[in-house]
Amino acid sequence: MDKSLVVVTETLNGELTPASLECVEEGREIADRLGVRVRAILCGSGVAPLAQTLAAHGADAVTAVEHEALAQFSADGWLQALTPVLRDLQPALLLAPDSGQMRAWLPRLSARWHLPLVGCCIRVNIIGDGYPEVIRNTYGGACQERLIWPYATLVCALLIPGVRGVGAPRRDRAAELTAVRPELDPARFRDRTLRTLPADPRTVDLSEAERIVSGGFGVGGPNGMALLGQLAEQLKAALGGTRVAADRGWLETQRFIGSTGKIVAPKLYLAFGVSGAGQHLAGITDSECVIAVNSDRTAPMLQRADLAVVGDLHAILPILLDKLRALADTGPADPAALEPPAAAQPATAALEPVSAPLLETSP
Ligand SMILES: Cc1cc2nc3c(=O)[nH]c(=O)nc-3n(C[C@H](O)[C@H](O)[C@H](O)COP(=O)(O)OP(=O)(O)OC[C@H]3O[C@@H](n4cnc5c(N)ncnc54)[C@H](O)[C@@H]3O)c2cc1C
Repeated sequence: MDKSLVVVTETLNGELTPASLECVEEGREIADRLGVRVRAILCGSGVAPLAQTLAAHGADAVTAVEHEALAQFSADGWLQALTPVLRDLQPALLLAPDSGQMRAWLPRLSARWHLPLVGCCIRVNIIGDGYPEVIRNTYGGACQERLIWPYATLVCALLIPGVRGVGAPRRDRAAELTAVRPELDPARFRDRTLRTLPADPRTVDLSEAERIVSGGFGVGGPNGMALLGQLAEQLKAALGGTRVAADRGWLETQRFIGSTGKIVAPKLYLAFGVSGAGQHLAGITDSECVIAVNSDRTAPMLQRADLAVVGDLHAILPILLDKLRALADTGPADPAALEPPAAAQPATAALEPVSAPLLETSP
């Protein structure tokens, strides 16, 4: 069998997780340099049709390990099913998302095989023709570590979700599919997933949140952050912020965003009183729609925003909260509830193609 770089992928609600696709794309880059193939592993029940998506993101070959007992995640199940598959594949490098599931079973494989397992990876590489290299966050993101192993060591690297974003799929790519039906004894599974609950936006890991309300030093203190928390609740969004806000104790440390904090990729990112320092912006590059409120019209955050609102957040937030509460009471059918106040109509002069739409407000 050809030497390959192996990516272990995972699914959620029948879809490949974005973190899995990021790993395939990271693997593709490394494999191109090494001249080896990227083989993705699918594990579950009825997962083989996802092979096409993996091919579109860079897999040359896909091994679908399928069994009805794997319909729901079980660390024992994955260990039983995947250990022989991986042994046969003899990977050059193992990549997987740094997720709860992977952290549940891969450390046990690592212990059995004396395999170096590295979490919190932000970049994976092979130097020269075979020295594995990993850059990873340590000390809660305060430091970065560069690790290099002896020639041809098999390393298992867990990539932080959201760290590189998912590129555009290439629909013209195809992957060779191998189906494996493992010998499993579900009676020996000591853990089973009974059901998967939808994530609570208040507690969801920021890297997986679809909407984020983010507060910076401009919120002025814990009361301002609590008000943002109310906004997050109304929008069913997760609450995050800047490192400065976390350092001041207005926000839990694991909820600050940026190069040394969480890398996020939400559909909607709302920033209040955030200046937009490079370290912060580095954590939101893959956000789809960014709305920023700042009293300083020169703040870099406003340059990054798709909709820039220049004004005092303490004046804007209560109005926004009232509007959202009214909307929640009347239901989305009432379009009047969506109308901005007369004083806050977009300044058409600022609607130039190169800059974000600008909303000027006065308290
Ligand atoms: C090694 C290193 C790593 C770092 N890593 C990170 C990181 O990962 N993430 C991160 O976030 N930071 C990081 N930082 C810190 C970063 O450099 C900035 O200092 C920080 O992001 C600024 O936070 P801020 O925007 O909350 O505060 P400020 O820069 O003080 O900005 C506050 C903003 O609020 C606005 N404002 C004030 N009052 C109001 C009001 N009433 N209404 C509206 N707007 C208002 C101001 O105009 C200003 O733009 C790092 C720094 C270093 C040195």
